[in-house]
Amino acid sequence: MSILYESFILMEEMAVKCLSDVDKQTSNLNMYEVKTLKTHVFFVDKNVDDLNSCPQIIQAASYLQRGELVAFPTETVYGLGANAMSTAAVENIFVAKGRPSDNPLIVHIATTEQLHDIACDIPPVASTLIEHFWPGPLTLVLPKKEAVSSRVTAGLNTVAVRMPNHPIALALIQASGLPIAAPSANRSGRPSPTTAKHVLDDLDGRIAAIVDGGATGVGVESTVIDCTTAIPTILRPGGVTKEDIEQVIGVVDIDRALVEKEAVPKSPGMKYTHYAPKAPLIVVNGSSAFLQQLVNEKRANGLRVGVLTTEERRHTYESDVVIPCGRRNDLRTVAQQLYDVLRAFDETNVDIIYSESFPYEGIGVAIMNRLLKAAGHEQIMEK
Ligand code: AMP
Ligand code: MG
Repeated sequence: MSILYESFILMEEMAVKCLSDVDKQTSNLNMYEVKTLKTHVFFVDKNVDDLNSCPQIIQAASYLQRGELVAFPTETVYGLGANAMSTAAVENIFVAKGRPSDNPLIVHIATTEQLHDIACDIPPVASTLIEHFWPGPLTLVLPKKEAVSSRVTAGLNTVAVRMPNHPIALALIQASGLPIAAPSANRSGRPSPTTAKHVLDDLDGRIAAIVDGGATGVGVESTVIDCTTAIPTILRPGGVTKEDIEQVIGVVDIDRALVEKEAVPKSPGMKYTHYAPKAPLIVVNGSSAFLQQLVNEKRANGLRVGVLTTEERRHTYESDVVIPCGRRNDLRTVAQQLYDVLRAFDETNVDIIYSESFPYEGIGVAIMNRLLKAAGHEQIMEK
């Protein structure tokens, strides 16, 4: 490491420390809101051989050990990490994101040994799921160990845990030696971040550091499954599909709130509107011709209209802004690009966005869940 680089890091650490001292002197959490941290960006190539001895990873891990917030890539979306065993560190997540305090966090681990520090009474079905899907986009809800901050679990006696399948996430967690609480690294209500730029757009100056490891892969968050019920229950659809899970452990339940609008979700975070672009979004169930007709009506009233479509149909529409989101014949590509496309509409000054809908099968279930949340459940059906 060059002397210049080292002294730069030192100066920055001093600046961050000064700000932390200010934090300690005041009980007013809003101080964190208004002041500007210097968010350090660490560039890391996820393909290098020995990430565990990578200086940027070690430096970022030291921020976590000091109770600071570090955003990092996972295979789903970028996470905003903090020491899960420290209430003060976890508190910073809620402040930086503006996250409602009753929305619990997922704890990320790098080894199965760490699981036993945070969860207990692990049922055999959970062990089977771990064997098949970890590391990967499947979060298990399990009985919680006392040592986990109740701020992480929003006072619940269960904890949500996953092992991400991303070399940078795993190296960072391992280097910190800590279980890391990490929700998606966006301001609450905004689309989740799939690139470091998305994270900085939302959180620059509000977090200590970000590890930029390039774009994430899956694009939608992990599937959350409650393993404390007699039959395991999917609380949030995500990167691992119901079909994948049922092949391994047989029939599972789905939280009623995912299919019935009136039911109260068992996963507290699922009740919030999420992922919303700035312009109102409406999901259209119907033909391209029907969607085009809706576009024409709005444009005739002087509105600028956006259309969210796929590569196959991008030339079908005539509108002010048409953005393709992956390929309909491979829904995984739609999931990968969904949040980037929702954010891209914010760069255009459209007044309204119409989106095509997608089949409720495989990863399509997660796509439609996120799309309808982004739309505040506004849907139009072709008669
Ligand atoms: P995110 O903010 O994208 O990381 O989302 C985390 C999701 O996990 C939210 O929907 C939470 O409600 C859910 N979650 C976290 N902990 C629990 C838990 N103990 N029980 C049920 N759901 C949980
Ligand atoms: Mg989130």
